[in-house]
Amino acid sequence: MNVIMMGPPGAGKGTQAERLARQHGLPKISTGDILREAVQAGTDLGRQAKAIMTRGDLVSDEVMIGVVRERLDRADAQGGFILDGFPRTVKQAQALDEMMAGRGPFIVIDFEVPDEELIRRLRLRRVCSRCGAGAAFEEDGAGADGQAEHCQRCGGPLVPRSDDNDESVRERLIVYQRETRPLVEYYRARPTFRVINGAQHPDRVSHEVSLAVASSARRQAKWRDAGATSGTVS
Ligand code: AMP
Repeated sequence: MNVIMMGPPGAGKGTQAERLARQHGLPKISTGDILREAVQAGTDLGRQAKAIMTRGDLVSDEVMIGVVRERLDRADAQGGFILDGFPRTVKQAQALDEMMAGRGPFIVIDFEVPDEELIRRLRLRRVCSRCGAGAAFEEDGAGADGQAEHCQRCGGPLVPRSDDNDESVRERLIVYQRETRPLVEYYRARPTFRVINGAQHPDRVSHEVSLAVASSARRQAKWRDAGATSGTVS
């Protein structure tokens, strides 16, 4: 099973991708996490990406397509994956279609959340400064309204993400509308495209994600029965 999580910053893609990946024993591939790890490790990729991420812009398509191609080629992604944060442009989506040729179709889930709610969430968002794990928004009390101060995974201190400042958030929302939102039209006609109201409680969202995955899986079974070979279902 291959799933793509789409939506604006703060829509809950990471949280839902994490849950779905755990449920299905699949790797969660987050391009944001890959870049943050590269920044922390001081690699070439990290050096290229750091200032761009701080501003809230997008790292170039060429670089990101290379990163994802390499990641999807690894052994653990052969049985499926949950992709979080890629594609973010039409060019990336076209490249993904090419990469997926012969690997079976993928489910695209788009989370819709109003801007005011995104801004509220990003102001509250906390991540672990030691292991990078995201603290939940409202679940478990972690990171919500300052209730938890330490990471539930490693006990490290929770801090705001460096690109969750007001200026960067504003830029990321503009970039989302300009570059990423057109992907909804790119994918909308596909039978495995689903829109979910991401403004609901995370457990409700997870439930709807499971339903969307199950109904798309039925479509995929039809696709297999039809003996299709392309990366998309029509
Ligand atoms: P995220 O953790 O998904 O919010 O990503 C954090 C930042 O990493 C974004 O604001 C971008 O600067 C960069 N980034 C992540 N994924 C991509 C992508 N697919 N294309 C371009 N830039 C990306």
